[in-house]
Amino acid sequence: MPERFIEIDGSMGEGGGAVLRTALALGAVNRMPVWIHHIRAKRKKPGLQPQHLKGVEALATVTGARVRGMELNSTELFFEPSETRGGKYKFDIGTAGSTTLILQILMPALAFASEPAEVEIRGGTDNPFAPPVDFLKHVTLPIIFKLGYRVEVECLQRGHYPRGGGRIRARTFPVEKLQAIHLTEAGKVLRIAGISHCVKLPPHVGTRQARAAKLTLLKAGYNAKISIETYDPSSDPHLGPGSGITIWAETESGAILGSSSLGKPGKPAERVGREAASSLVAQLKTGFAVDRYLTDQLIPYIALAEGRSEIWSTELTTHTLTNVELVEKILGVKFEIDGKLGEPGRISVEGRGLTRGSNFD
Ligand code: ATP
Repeated sequence: MPERFIEIDGSMGEGGGAVLRTALALGAVNRMPVWIHHIRAKRKKPGLQPQHLKGVEALATVTGARVRGMELNSTELFFEPSETRGGKYKFDIGTAGSTTLILQILMPALAFASEPAEVEIRGGTDNPFAPPVDFLKHVTLPIIFKLGYRVEVECLQRGHYPRGGGRIRARTFPVEKLQAIHLTEAGKVLRIAGISHCVKLPPHVGTRQARAAKLTLLKAGYNAKISIETYDPSSDPHLGPGSGITIWAETESGAILGSSSLGKPGKPAERVGREAASSLVAQLKTGFAVDRYLTDQLIPYIALAEGRSEIWSTELTTHTLTNVELVEKILGVKFEIDGKLGEPGRISVEGRGLTRGSNFD
């Protein structure tokens, strides 16, 4: 075992897959071995499930890491990354596991790689408890671009639980350094847009989801432009069935807040549309610039960036607070949090200002 490594108790805070992803991703960025135990201890089925295992394998591939404990259900890993390389990669989760969460574990390391990368991932694109691909494309990535990191994603084919078969392709363009961001007050909403989709289902499902979302938004005083993605049943290439809607609001301060909902058997399309819209409306009411999901996703990036970042979140979740604690431990930064769990909160941090090719103690 190397003399210096990061030790993480995977049961900390939320005790789920995000602890694993953030710990390994930051270990990879810093080229520092990570020993993580009690992986996903707070989940019903603890240890590495197919999506987590594939994430670790994918990160090991792009960082040339040696890994011990990389098997299904494993609750302990020793991950020793080497150099992160760009280039072309293809990963197949083999189940409907979330493709966007595989990208989440890879993106920080690829930000500091020596070359751009193109990554194709097969699995689910619209999963519960994970960013839908439209959220990633229209909310997460444009905001991460504000830190200077350009990542593009295309949905080549949608995949839903349980059959999967979706494919996304992402391109990453490395940075020298990430810049601090300030997303505090949202300000006036300039526009609300969205995508309502359904596959291997009658096209009216997509239309009804969109209509219900628009109506809910209209009652709250917002006009929205929601595009509809449906397929002719005779030539629909998906494995499906599945449906969902993602909507996002762009505001005068440069904020983008997103919200989504997925269909499932027995759940009326109208409820899917209403859920996404009413969550967005509730978040916009806070006047804060960063939605509840984007907040936890930004924590590692603002800690790596140069200078003081400040983000005001519509809701502090356990995911966010766990990520804060974990990132403080790994990067030695200190976050200031003003707010309580389940309520809007203000987050600020003086980032480490990591430059490509260097690492910190
Ligand atoms: P586990 O199975 O252990 O719960 P997991 O690997 O599925 O773990 P989580 O630890 O729950 O993942 O992390 C989920 C990630 O997906 C978080 O970054 C969260 O912000 C994001 N996420 C979840 N739901 C949404 C959503 N509806 N929109 C956008 N992002 C989402």
